[in-house]
Amino acid sequence: MLDSERDYYELLGVPRDADAKTIKDAYHRLAMKWHPDRNPAADAEQHFKGIATAYAVLSDPKKRARYDARGFEGVAHFSPEDLFGGLDLGSVFGDLGFGFGPGGQSIFERFFSHDRAPPVRGRNLRVHLQLPLELIATGGTETLRFARPVECSKCHGYGTKSGSPPPSCPECHGAGHRVVTADTKQNKGGSVVIQRMEACTKCLGKGVLSDKPCRRCSGSGQIDEQETLKVTIPQGIEEGMVLRVPQHGLPGAAGAAPGDLHVVVSSLPDARFQRRGADLWRAQQLDVADAVLGTKVQVATLDSDVEVTIPPGTQPDEVVRMRGKGLPRFHAPGNGDLNLRIQVHIPEKLSTEQRRLYEQLRGGK
Ligand SMILES: [Zn+2]
Ligand SMILES: [Zn+2]
Repeated sequence: MLDSERDYYELLGVPRDADAKTIKDAYHRLAMKWHPDRNPAADAEQHFKGIATAYAVLSDPKKRARYDARGFEGVAHFSPEDLFGGLDLGSVFGDLGFGFGPGGQSIFERFFSHDRAPPVRGRNLRVHLQLPLELIATGGTETLRFARPVECSKCHGYGTKSGSPPPSCPECHGAGHRVVTADTKQNKGGSVVIQRMEACTKCLGKGVLSDKPCRRCSGSGQIDEQETLKVTIPQGIEEGMVLRVPQHGLPGAAGAAPGDLHVVVSSLPDARFQRRGADLWRAQQLDVADAVLGTKVQVATLDSDVEVTIPPGTQPDEVVRMRGKGLPRFHAPGNGDLNLRIQVHIPEKLSTEQRRLYEQLRGGK
């Protein structure tokens, strides 16, 4: 039978009417026996968890009453935080140096938090990087400067002046809330039990009492660490693509791997070109006569000036395509196009001579 299915009194080896001291002594003795730091057996951690859970329930008079009345069902809705929040499991080991695991983890964090939470690998960090079109065209390296929040080394991330965890709230046993139960009489003689969660007024729902804040991080537990990193920019990288830099994200807890850095790439706003995928667009102004008669214009592309032939009879908003003069395609052969959207400039003022010529054109219609 699994420990998780065994009766809590049986697990601790105490009678059902055992007093608080008997329960604590039994827990102490068994925990010392099964603590995975002391006991190399493969199932030591499982045993230890079962014992700690039994102790968490039986050492709290309210939880014990619920368990006595309804068995596992009576305590099934408690989260690990609810069960262990008010309990200093580590104090039993404090004298022997078992109170904290590597990196200052409490016993609770070490053995129970991962029952619900994902592993303690650091979170990924996301930063944005804007690149000039020229660099996107050629590819290369870019220096990225960013701030990364890391655990404050002065207070070990607790944000307290003492550098230890803030004291657990004695009022709510660290849960931050209490459950208020009320019986409500119904019309037909039955009653419903209404349970209501109320934020703890002593700790204002935080579950811990406030401590003096750490002066280095002002109590946030984190400080920004500036990092400079060279990132390789692949040719033609597209808008919104993410470059992943392994292990440069947020630090992991207790020696676990850090998360990754995700660099979200976009192109810098450019007065000359608009980017659409690998294609570039720009406006090209033409005089009326050039649009009518056709002409040659010098167009600046990303790397050089190119002469472009504008055919006679070019219309406003017509697009003249310069094939292959856009950006290189990402992971595909060839380049996009540079598209010129034609704007025809109508003269606002005319000289006497120009007016005569336009009148002549109109007359000849
Ligand atoms: Zn409280
Ligand atoms: Zn600090």
